[in-house]
Amino acid sequence: MTTGPAALPGLTGRLLDLLGPGGVITDPVRLRTYECDGLTYHRATPGVVVLPETAEQVAAVVRACHETGTPFVARGSGTGLSGGALPRTDGVLVVTSRLRRILELDIPNRRAVVEPGVTNLAISEAARPYGYYYAPDPSSQQICTIGGNVAENSGGAHCLKHGFTVNHVLAVELVTPQGEIVELDAMDPGYDLLGAFIGSEGTLGIATKITVRLSREPESVTTLLAAFPDVESGGVAVSAIIGAGVLPSAIEMMDALAIEAAEAAVRCDYPAGAGAVLIVELDGPVAEVAHEFAQVERLCRESGAFAVRVADDPARRAAIWKGRKSAFAAVGRISPAYLVQDGVVPRTALPAVLAGIEELSARYGIRVANVFHAGDGNLHPLVLFDDAEEGAAERAETVSGEILDLCLRHGGSITGEHGVGVDKSRYMTKMFTEEELDTMQLVRCAFDPAGLSNPGKIFPTPRLCGEAPGVRKGVHPLVASGEADLF
Ligand SMILES: Cc1cc2nc3c(=O)[nH]c(=O)nc-3n(C[C@H](O)[C@H](O)[C@H](O)COP(=O)(O)OP(=O)(O)OC[C@H]3O[C@@H](n4cnc5c(N)ncnc54)[C@H](O)[C@@H]3O)c2cc1C
Repeated sequence: MTTGPAALPGLTGRLLDLLGPGGVITDPVRLRTYECDGLTYHRATPGVVVLPETAEQVAAVVRACHETGTPFVARGSGTGLSGGALPRTDGVLVVTSRLRRILELDIPNRRAVVEPGVTNLAISEAARPYGYYYAPDPSSQQICTIGGNVAENSGGAHCLKHGFTVNHVLAVELVTPQGEIVELDAMDPGYDLLGAFIGSEGTLGIATKITVRLSREPESVTTLLAAFPDVESGGVAVSAIIGAGVLPSAIEMMDALAIEAAEAAVRCDYPAGAGAVLIVELDGPVAEVAHEFAQVERLCRESGAFAVRVADDPARRAAIWKGRKSAFAAVGRISPAYLVQDGVVPRTALPAVLAGIEELSARYGIRVANVFHAGDGNLHPLVLFDDAEEGAAERAETVSGEILDLCLRHGGSITGEHGVGVDKSRYMTKMFTEEELDTMQLVRCAFDPAGLSNPGKIFPTPRLCGEAPGVRKGVHPLVASGEADLF
């Protein structure tokens, strides 16, 4: 049997037999639709794209890949920002957009069972008539899929109180890299394999059915907008609120440049002269929210807020959120191009790290707008540049990387919610030792010894198991001690 890249033409014939011509894309022009995700910097035309409609079809496709040694990549809506769904020119891109049924709304047990191509928002829309919603809320929630959310362990503005995807997924049915359909359940005894799968960026198989927890709509929600002279005083307010034991559902910050962009795009009418704004949202029982709200307002004023606005009805709350929600896109109004970075720092390090970003911005002559989940210490610096200017993209890339170095120096991480993908794999060695990376590879190898499921993502240099055995010199300590085997 032909295996490896030479197998692709033969494999395509087999895929056509499995899915029919409507389920397989080979036309070079149509293939280009799938050449990148939200991070357009990295592009590759997929060898072939398949659009299965059932888990059994996904399994049959993956089995065919496994038998021919062909790499495959899962793709939801392609909104990822780390090149996680970047296809392989020698492989198969498995697009889940046709797997989009809500299979069960089980209100008494507060759960929903959905296919991976269902959008995040569609789950909340289906549950809302019963007073429930799906809590993790990436800003891309209108279009991103729950399969992509599981793969990236996605977050969102309200994850500070309500948790990330991993806190809301109860079970996943997946197709293993060998093409078998298995179920991982949070109630399973033994190792938390479901936990290992969530956030694995498509490297451990393809999710085909997901059971999520539904949350009760809160009794009341209050949103506050506080304007500060600068980001430092806003950062002090964030620490003061959390330090006082209040847990808002969201604390978001925008700096002066992000406010300028939002004003230009959507006229959000934030207080004039603000060097930073904080959006703080509280939800829960009426009495609790009223009590905590008084504390939050006082702490903001004590930290230097010069204007505070409050909204407790949906229309006025939406007006406050308008600027924040449009901020990423709004930056397009003030800059021809930009990179979105995603790093994390301890909350108390926010003022120092923001000052560091300002210093980098001045040193490289590159503007950086900051819009971020301040409560989680999850920064999203938007590094602005003009792609028509010689060397500007490279300088932006350097600033973007140096921001991650800054996060690491302050005890943070290179990604909060956007995943590592292909884009940040080169930074993994800055965060983890060789032994730690090899240990992660051993987990990956336990699922995917042949290394066919989304290869080339997360890990800087493929080592161990099937990807490129023997690149690493020496033996992993766990292997040397006989505690683990290489495949
Ligand atoms: C404007 C904008 C705002 C955003 N805001 C946020 C935010 O607030 N929080 C946040 O966390 N992210 C955010 N993102 C990033 C992105 O939306 C999320 O990472 C999202 O989870 C990606 O979902 P997707 O369906 O588009 O996945 P894709 O981009 O298609 O894929 C992402 C990864 O998931 C894998 N994958 C997809 N489906 C499956 C499956 N069924 N089984 C296994 N692996 C699979 C892919 O191989 C890839 O590695 C934002 C993106 C944009 C463009």
